[in-house]
Amino acid sequence: MDQLDQLDEIEATLTQDLEHVNIPNFKGVCGTCGEPVVGDGIYAMNKTFHKDHFVCCVCNEQFGSNPYYVKDGKPYCQNDYENQVLGICEVCGKPLINELAVVGEKKIHLDCFKCSICGKVLNGKYYNKDGLYLCQEDYEEKYLPVCNRCHEKIRPTGDVKEAICVGDKKYHVKCFCCKDCQKPFEDMKAYMFNDDYLCEEHYRKRKEEERKNKEQNQ
Ligand SMILES: [Zn+2]
Ligand SMILES: [Zn+2]
Ligand SMILES: [Zn+2]
Ligand SMILES: [Zn+2]
Ligand SMILES: [Zn+2]
Ligand SMILES: [Zn+2]
Repeated sequence: MDQLDQLDEIEATLTQDLEHVNIPNFKGVCGTCGEPVVGDGIYAMNKTFHKDHFVCCVCNEQFGSNPYYVKDGKPYCQNDYENQVLGICEVCGKPLINELAVVGEKKIHLDCFKCSICGKVLNGKYYNKDGLYLCQEDYEEKYLPVCNRCHEKIRPTGDVKEAICVGDKKYHVKCFCCKDCQKPFEDMKAYMFNDDYLCEEHYRKRKEEERKNKEQNQ
């Protein structure tokens, strides 16, 4: 509420009050029904209310001795404040009083936002894939390709190309090298020999050995 609104409101209250100065025991104008409050009233939120008119703006229940909560100048009972104003956690169904995580359209307690696989609290750090919310370990376990040579996961590292795909097999860049000399292939030229990738030099050597073995066996 800015200054002008406040002044307007005070003036409106004064004008209303002036109309009722002749009523004995006049306590002000009821904030709910606008009628004069005479005798016992309730004073709350800088307003006067008839005793039975100080009610929750949603369920119309009187507050009695229960606490009330104010949002945008309207009083709420605890239940409606939590349900209507704070909202409800999509996971546990309890009001979002504590810290919450906003996941797409959903609001969830930070403590209720857990890995879809292991159930660990994600603390805002998560991977979203196939509708699942995953911790780093489970994401890597489930989705990262395995190097066909060293059998370790191939992890993305920024812009650097980390994986080489050969058919449906994947390799670390560093693992895609000659089986015999471990040197990376020049211009990606690799020769296949008995399921091993070889550089030209070692491919020729193996062929040569193969030829000699055949000769000896003859
Ligand atoms: Zn009233
Ligand atoms: Zn209520
Ligand atoms: Zn929750
Ligand atoms: Zn997990
Ligand atoms: Zn590897
Ligand atoms: Zn080689």
